[in-house]
Amino acid sequence: MAVTAEVELLYPIPGLSERALEIQGRARRFVDDVLIPREEEAERRGGILPDEEIAEVKHEAIAASLNGGLHSPQHGGQGWTRTEWALVEEQWGRSTNAISWHVPNAYNVWDHASEAQAERYLRPALKGELRDAYAVTERDAGSDPSRIKATAERTDAGFRINGEKWFVTSGDVASVLIVMANVIEGGSPLPTLFVVDKGLPGIETIDDPDFTHTYPDRHPTILFSDVEVGPDDVIGGVGGGDDLQRDWFSEERLGIAARGVGSMWRLLEETVDWATGREQGGSRIFDYQGVSFPLADSAADAAAGRLLTFQVAAMIDAGGDPKLAHHKASMAKLFVSESAWRCADRCVQAFGGRGYMRSNVAERFLRELRVDRIWEGTSEIQRLIIARGLERRGVERILH
Ligand SMILES: Cc1cc2nc3c(=O)[nH]c(=O)nc-3n(C[C@H](O)[C@H](O)[C@H](O)COP(=O)(O)OP(=O)(O)OC[C@H]3O[C@@H](n4cnc5c(N)ncnc54)[C@H](O)[C@@H]3O)c2cc1C
Repeated sequence: MAVTAEVELLYPIPGLSERALEIQGRARRFVDDVLIPREEEAERRGGILPDEEIAEVKHEAIAASLNGGLHSPQHGGQGWTRTEWALVEEQWGRSTNAISWHVPNAYNVWDHASEAQAERYLRPALKGELRDAYAVTERDAGSDPSRIKATAERTDAGFRINGEKWFVTSGDVASVLIVMANVIEGGSPLPTLFVVDKGLPGIETIDDPDFTHTYPDRHPTILFSDVEVGPDDVIGGVGGGDDLQRDWFSEERLGIAARGVGSMWRLLEETVDWATGREQGGSRIFDYQGVSFPLADSAADAAAGRLLTFQVAAMIDAGGDPKLAHHKASMAKLFVSESAWRCADRCVQAFGGRGYMRSNVAERFLRELRVDRIWEGTSEIQRLIIARGLERRGVERILH
């Protein structure tokens, strides 16, 4: 396995602090020592590692202070900048089977949590004691979340939630669900996020389909029938759901870009290592341009995608216009998710028959990277957002 153990950054991204490089080095060692060695076992076991291994991953992550990266130290997180966080996400992207999901963390909407919500859910999540899940998508509301039908009717005791949520990642292991539902007031729907304890009566998993990747958590369909929550179980205020959702998308899309760059890094390392050692027809296969040129194209994609990703992160850290950051995060997600999957496909080809084996890193990435072109907004939706940005913010602001 061509994994570089030494922490070495020959030409760091301009402006990276000593602190950022130290965090990156710590995450890199964790990925090399704790995550990558467990990938094949996770794949063989359908994504589910034994409990003691999961406990070990959590323990090592907390010992290396890699839990809750963007969350504040006051809540048990690390208080990283967006750039520091993206450097760590890039490292997570170098590993397969989403074993990094065991690193204790929580969704960014918890930044808007009340002290009581933080105490009950956020702090335990960052210690690895509970998991959360985020439920927006419905049968008839995917790319267009304004079509959601879930409702939260006001009652004397708070709200009564009804609806059906699809693709709830980690809905099988989460003990708290962040649920988007419309509060109907004055005849107009107010999209609102609710903190819903999964143990409440009226919550039922009605489907649990298999998906392409072999990951630790599932993506069930969850039905909410007359689920009663209190008046304080709103997060971000009644009607604040769309704004929080936009923040979530910007962060998750940048995370997908950072992880995709990391995936290409690992894919190219492993594949160049293989192709320079493998001989067929009297030559190293790397000496056939049919093998090496596609890898060269992916190297150019990886380097360009990395610069774009870290430009967006730096812009957010500098307090740049969040709307512009939203467009640019879409551009990074689109470019990297499309090029990372193409890279995995090229690497499978370079490995030949071995590239079709589940024990091969390129085979796993080929399956795993496909969903990055779909979730957190499909590639087509990213193009819509970028096109709108060209018109509303101007070409120069989108490009530079
Ligand atoms: C594994 C997995 C995990 C997920 N996890 C979560 C989760 O945790 N929480 C959650 O809320 N959701 C989750 N999702 C849902 C995900 O965000 C949606 O699948 C995604 O937004 C696309 O919605 P859809 O599947 O309904 O497709 P649709 O919206 O029906 O789109 C189908 C096709 O039509 C295209 N299309 C749609 N509208 C347009 C348009 N205006 N212009 C051009 N083309 C268009 C799309 O690009 C796509 O190619 C997950 C999905 C998957 C697969």
